[in-house]
Amino acid sequence: MEQEKQRLIIPFIGLNEGIHRFEFKIDSSFFGQFDYSIIEKGEFKIKVEFEKKKNLFNLYFKLKGKITANCDRCLAPLTMKVKGEESLIVKFGETTYNETDEIKVISPAEYELDLAEDVYQFVHTLMPNKVKHEKKKDCDPKIIEQLEKLTTKKASTEVDPRWEGLSQFKDKSE
Ligand SMILES: [Zn+2]
Repeated sequence: MEQEKQRLIIPFIGLNEGIHRFEFKIDSSFFGQFDYSIIEKGEFKIKVEFEKKKNLFNLYFKLKGKITANCDRCLAPLTMKVKGEESLIVKFGETTYNETDEIKVISPAEYELDLAEDVYQFVHTLMPNKVKHEKKKDCDPKIIEQLEKLTTKKASTEVDPRWEGLSQFKDKSE
C-alpha cells in the first residue's frame, strides 16, 4: 500500500466568502514524499491567507523555515534558513491543472484545495540558486583539496589536438 502523503488542505466548500487564515507545518517527511527532491531535510511553517471570492480564490503565503541540502562545492550537507512570500490565484475551469506557477485552475467538482505541490514549488523558488557554503573555507577541506587536484590534472592533460590545430590557425591569421 502506498504511504499516505502529507497534504495541506483548505476545505473551501464550507467557508464563507471573505478572508480565512490557515497555518501548516511541514517537515522532512513532506519533502521525502516527492521523487527527486534535492531537499533531504527541512521544516517550515506556512501561513496562508485565503480569500474566498465568488468565482476565485486569492492566496497569500508566508513561508519560514530551514532546509538541508548538499553543498555544490564540497557536497557536505548544509542547513540554511529560508523565508519568503508567495501568492497564488485559484480559479474554476473544466479540469484541475496549473496554468502557471501563480495560477491554478480547479474543476467545479473539487471541494478542497491541496496546497502540497504548490508549497513544494515555493520552497524551491525561495531557495538560493546555488546551495553553497558562504565561504570556501567553510567547505569540507578534504573534498576541496581532492577536487582541486582533479581539476588541475584535467586542465594539464586534456588538450584536444583539434583545438590545438585551430589555435595555430588563428595565430597565423592575425
Ligand atoms: Zn561546501
